[in-house]
Amino acid sequence: MAKRKSACCGLSALEAALIVLFILMTAVCVTLITLIVIWKTHTDPTPPPSPEPQHDPYLIGVGRADCTGPPAEIPLMGYANPQQTAAGIHTRLYSRAFIVDDGRRRVVFVTVDIGMVSQRLRLEVLQALQMKYGDLYRQDNVVLSGTHTHCGLGGYFQYTLFMMTSKGYIKESTQPLVNGIVKSIDIAHRNMKPGRIFRNRGDLDDSSLNRSPHSYLNNPEDERHRYKWNTDKQVVVLKFTDLDGDGIGMISWFAVHAVSMNYTNRMVSSDNMGYASCLLEQDKNPGELPGQGGFVAGFSSSNLGDVTPNTKGPHCANTGLPCDYLNSSCPVGGTRMCQAYGPGDDMFDSTRIIGHKIYSKAKELYANAVEEVTGFLHSAHQWVNMTDVTVQINATHTVSTCKPALGHSFAAGTIDGGGDLNFTQGAVEGDPFWDGIRDLVLGKPSNQTQECHHPKPILLSTGEMNWPLPWHPQIVDVQIITIGSVAVVAVPGEMTTMSGRRLREAVQQELESEGTFRDTEVVIAGLSNVYTHYITTYEEYQVQRYEGASTIYGPHTLSAYLQKFRGLAKAIAQDRVSELPLGPQPPFFKEHLLSWMLPAPVDKTPQNTSFGDVLEQVYPVYRQGDVVSVTFVAGNPRHSGDIRDKTFVTVEIYDNRTETWEIVHTDASWETRFHWLKGSNQQSNATIEWHIPSSAPSGSYRIRHFGHYKQWKGLQQVITAYEGASEVFRVASSFYSH
Ligand code: ZN
Repeated sequence: MAKRKSACCGLSALEAALIVLFILMTAVCVTLITLIVIWKTHTDPTPPPSPEPQHDPYLIGVGRADCTGPPAEIPLMGYANPQQTAAGIHTRLYSRAFIVDDGRRRVVFVTVDIGMVSQRLRLEVLQALQMKYGDLYRQDNVVLSGTHTHCGLGGYFQYTLFMMTSKGYIKESTQPLVNGIVKSIDIAHRNMKPGRIFRNRGDLDDSSLNRSPHSYLNNPEDERHRYKWNTDKQVVVLKFTDLDGDGIGMISWFAVHAVSMNYTNRMVSSDNMGYASCLLEQDKNPGELPGQGGFVAGFSSSNLGDVTPNTKGPHCANTGLPCDYLNSSCPVGGTRMCQAYGPGDDMFDSTRIIGHKIYSKAKELYANAVEEVTGFLHSAHQWVNMTDVTVQINATHTVSTCKPALGHSFAAGTIDGGGDLNFTQGAVEGDPFWDGIRDLVLGKPSNQTQECHHPKPILLSTGEMNWPLPWHPQIVDVQIITIGSVAVVAVPGEMTTMSGRRLREAVQQELESEGTFRDTEVVIAGLSNVYTHYITTYEEYQVQRYEGASTIYGPHTLSAYLQKFRGLAKAIAQDRVSELPLGPQPPFFKEHLLSWMLPAPVDKTPQNTSFGDVLEQVYPVYRQGDVVSVTFVAGNPRHSGDIRDKTFVTVEIYDNRTETWEIVHTDASWETRFHWLKGSNQQSNATIEWHIPSSAPSGSYRIRHFGHYKQWKGLQQVITAYEGASEVFRVASSFYSH
C-alpha cells in the first residue's frame, strides 16, 4: 500500500486537481449565469428601456412672464376698431419662451399672447437682448410669434396704417410687451438644463371652420382632393422633459383664429389659446395661481388665415338666416350683420369650450409623446424686400410681387368682425364713391400698382403712402429654425390653410432633399416677427374675399414666400446657412412716430367717498355657479404704471386654522372679471365679478381691489396707491342653502 492511489484512471495528482478546479469553476459560472437570469426575469419584467439618445442631451430652458399692459383706454389690437378700447382684464397676457441648445447652436421660440408680433416690437426686443446677452440671441435664432388674440393692447407698431387704428405708437403699451418677452427669455436662459424632447401629433375636430370656403374652393380640384378638410385639424406637440423624464414644458401648434372673444369685448384677454395655456399650466403646476409655477405651456398660432373658432358659422344677427355665401353679407344690415358665433351661448362660453378642446387634445398628445426628437439645431434667417421679389414660375415665365396695397374687401372685415361701411367681401370692382374720396384725401394708386395687384381693386395703396412714415413694411423677416427633425417656419403674417400646406410641403421637400433630414415635421408659426396681414394662394387671391384683399404684396405673395423659404430650407439641409445673404435691414423709425394717446387725467371720487370704497356691495351668501359682483370707487388703471406680476383683484378665502386670508384667484384667473368703467367728471368704477367654480370649497370669502389714483397736490400731480375690500360673504354648497 506504499503507492498511494490518489485517483482513478491513472491521472496524476496535478491533473486531477486541475480537472476538479475546472469542474468547480464551470459550476460556479453556470450558477452565476442562472442566478443572473432568474434575477433579471424577476426584477425587469418590462422590455428593455429605449436606447440612450445618439447625441448629447439638449440643454433646455423654459420661461413665462407677464406682459400685460395698462388695461384702460388703449385700443385693443385685432378688430381694427379704435372704439374698442381696453377697460379691464378678463385674463392676463403672457410671453412664453423656450430655449434649446445642442452644444453648437441655440434656438429660441417665443409665443406671446398678442395679436401679432410687429417689426417694431421685434426690433426693440432684439435690441434689449443684444444689450444683455451680446450676440447670443439674434434675429436669426430667435422666433417671436403672436397667438393672435384680438384682445391685447395695440400701439406697438411703427407703420402708419397700424398707428392709425391704435392711437399711434404708445410707449405705455409697448414697454410691458418688450419687458415681458425679454423677461420670459431671461427666465428660460437661467433655468437651462439637460433634457429631452418628444414630438407627437393628432387631429382636433369641432374646433375650427373655414370662414372663406368660397376662396378655398377656387384652389385646384386635384390639390383639394388630397385633403379631407378645408382647414388643418392637426395639433403638433413638442414635449420637453428633464433627464429624469419629468415634464418641464410643452409647445403646441394649431391653426385657428383666437377670436372667440368678439369685438364687443373690452377686457384684455388671451382668448382661447391663452385659456388653453392656463389650463395645462394649472394641471402641471398644482396649487399655483395662474401665471405661476415652473411648467410652461405655449399654444402657438399657425396657418389660421381663413380659420374661425366660431363653429356655428355665419348667420345674420337680425334674422338668424345664413349670410350670403359669396360675400358674407345680409339683406338688411350688410356685412356688419353677418356674424359667426358658437360653439357656446356667448363669447365667454365659446372661448371656454374652444380653449378647453385645444388644451385637452394637447394634453393627450403630450401624455403619449414617445417619438424622441434628436439631432442638431439650425436657424436660418433673411430680410427680404417683399415689394420686389421675382419668381420663376416656369421655364419661360417670371412674375413679381408688388408694393403693398389693400383691396376693397379689406374694409368689409370678416364673419368674425365685419366692417361698418358698405363694403362686402369678394369685391373685384372698385366703388366710385370710396375711390373718389380716396383719390381726394390720399391720392390715386399708380397704374403700375393697380396692374400689379389685379384683380384686386385697390382701396389703400399703402406702398405709395409714406406720410408721416410708410404705411406698410417693405422689408420682412423670413426665418426657419430646426430642432432635430422638427422645423419651425416663422411666417410674417396669416397664411390660409392651403397656403400653409404648400409652404410646409415645400420646406419639407428641401430639407429632405439632401438626405440629412428624414421624417421631418414642419410646423408654421404664424404672426411671427413682422405683421404683413394675409397670405392666400394665387387662386384664392382671384376671389378677393377679405384674406385675398389683405394679401398686401399682390397675387404672387405666396409664390415669393415659397421661393424664399425654400432657399432657407436648402441652406439648412446643406449646412450652408452662413452663406445666405443677410438682406436689407428693416428701418427703426426714431422720428415722426404718431401718438394721440393723451396722458390719463387726474381721478375724482363721488361725494363723500374715497378710492377703494364699495359702491355696490356683495350679498351675504352664494352658491357654486353663482356670480359675485362688487363695485369700488376706482382710479384709472393707467396710473398703476407697470402692472406686470401684480393684480387689481384678489378673491380670498378665510383659513380658520391659520386665521389668515388666503388668495384663491387674481385678475389673471379665468374665474374673475375686472371691469373698469369710466364715468363722467373723471370718476370711474371697478366692478369685479367672481364666477364661482363648482370646485370652490364652501367657506368665508372676500374680494379685494387694488389700484392707484392721480390727484393734484399743490402744483404737482401725485399718484397714490389705494385698496378696498368687499364685506365677507359665504359660499355655501347648494346642499345647505335653500
Ligand atoms: Zn387674423
